[in-house]
Amino acid sequence: MLGLMQDQPLLISGLIDFADKHHGDGEVVSRRVEGDIHRYTWSDVARRSRQVANALDGMKLGFSDRVATLAWNGYRHLELYFGVSGSGRVLHTINPRLHPEQIAWIANHAEDQVLCFDMTFLPIVQAIHSKCATVKHWVAMCDADKLPADTGIPNLISYEAWMGSQSTSYQWPVFDENTASSMCYTSGTTGNPKAALYSHRSTTLHAYAAALPDVMCISARDAILPVVPMFHVNAWGIPYSAALTGAKLVFPGPGMDGKSVYEMIENEGVTYAAGVPTVWQMLLTYMKPNGLKFSTLKRTVIGGSACPPAMIDAFRDDFGVDVLHAWGMTEISPLGTVCTLKNKHLTLSKDEQMKLLLKQGRAIYGVDMKIVNDAGDEQPHDGKAYGDLLVRGPWVVANYYKGEGNPLVKDKDGQNWFPTGDVATIDADGFMQITDRSKDVIKSGGEWISSIDIENIAVAHPAVAMAACIGVPHPKWDERPIVAVVKKPDAQVSREELLAFYEGKTAKWQIPDDVVFVDAIPIGATGKMLKTKLREQLKDYKLPSA
Ligand code: AMP
Repeated sequence: MLGLMQDQPLLISGLIDFADKHHGDGEVVSRRVEGDIHRYTWSDVARRSRQVANALDGMKLGFSDRVATLAWNGYRHLELYFGVSGSGRVLHTINPRLHPEQIAWIANHAEDQVLCFDMTFLPIVQAIHSKCATVKHWVAMCDADKLPADTGIPNLISYEAWMGSQSTSYQWPVFDENTASSMCYTSGTTGNPKAALYSHRSTTLHAYAAALPDVMCISARDAILPVVPMFHVNAWGIPYSAALTGAKLVFPGPGMDGKSVYEMIENEGVTYAAGVPTVWQMLLTYMKPNGLKFSTLKRTVIGGSACPPAMIDAFRDDFGVDVLHAWGMTEISPLGTVCTLKNKHLTLSKDEQMKLLLKQGRAIYGVDMKIVNDAGDEQPHDGKAYGDLLVRGPWVVANYYKGEGNPLVKDKDGQNWFPTGDVATIDADGFMQITDRSKDVIKSGGEWISSIDIENIAVAHPAVAMAACIGVPHPKWDERPIVAVVKKPDAQVSREELLAFYEGKTAKWQIPDDVVFVDAIPIGATGKMLKTKLREQLKDYKLPSA
């Protein structure tokens, strides 16, 4: 017997319609590429999204055709989120930090028909437009009078001229909720990048889940600053969850440096901010010497790479801000776990709580996970046994775009799981902790050393700005860890002092064999440390002990 409830598809147009009807006067504030602040409301977003949909119809774009963006976090990008997907097309957010050749490769692979870009990225578009065979329309996300003449880009039109004169009424089409809504390419550190193709259903379910109190706890009383880019897994789904809840959105535009982020937080009464650790490091480095405090910020969600304990401490002790450590992936929309305490943990000492808060957290309803050893046997949830982390759920990929490379593995019961490539432990309370990417784990004498643990200790030293631990070949132990360190400006620490700093903080055999001081650690297009590149840079390095 089937239930007798209405079968309404979960569509992204429903989110923006809801925002329009129920919190239309909620604010969306953006720092524009031009440098000024733009301010309007959720009803304005809805109205202009409908104009975008009309403009796409006017271009005769077909159902599921791809519309690409090369854009910062801002209001026009938000309108494309809803106008493109809502009208049945697929929004393809491209990471502008990729090499132009990679951008062209991705646009061709996705078969993008339209490419909308912020003026910052005009030089990229000038370099690649002749290589993007499928793109028929180029839209510069600016006012009509800001469009430069003679760009060399055929039929280039300004966003405002393109959509501004369109009708503001539009009947959102109703279709299968499993229809593709947006796509995002993985970083592709090995081989060509592959795309996760999200659906209206997966995006809406993820938006619901992300707003839950033990996830990102997003409400109509929040003002949210997503520093995480809208080209990085849909800014972790925040634009959709904000439309669903009526939270105020504050977009930093191109200003990701500490000063700009701090000013946006203070000027707009931001209560909640989201980003990768490198962004928060820049913010803290700006605030501390200037003696600045937050007046409204209550919590930050930090994910994308492991959050060092020193950062959680600094936010909590120096600024009274709670850190939510989160784990996710492009392939899982991206949220998998978020670290929040349970009732029984509230009476624990600060140190005991800290041990938990450092973990990547508990699974969100909708994400099933387990850890398995090399033979595929499930490992116990005791916080000690580690294994490959497998996940499954309604916002986890079933396949890559164009069916490239089966992303799933079967377990012993024949069930499909997505292998994350991360190695993790899960404790009895369900808190998952990543020990490493499987390819970054250091295997020393048959034992595994977590590079994340080694890095966390290094960055707790007051003179250390950044640290990356990699394994280097060793004749006796196979591999031994070394740590590459960037010192804070004007700070001093010697190799010996730093190695002594490890004493008592980890097992002796896990202490790195050497410290290599470097000017910078290579950072990838999504703000994460690029260990592959670091290994390349240190390829001639020889261990003193080897
Ligand atoms: P991406 O798909 O580019 O977002 O990368 C996903 C990968 O980033 C995951 O598989 C993890 O290796 C890493 N990652 C994401 N969040 C965290 C976290 N909180 N701690 C450690 N690693 C993380």
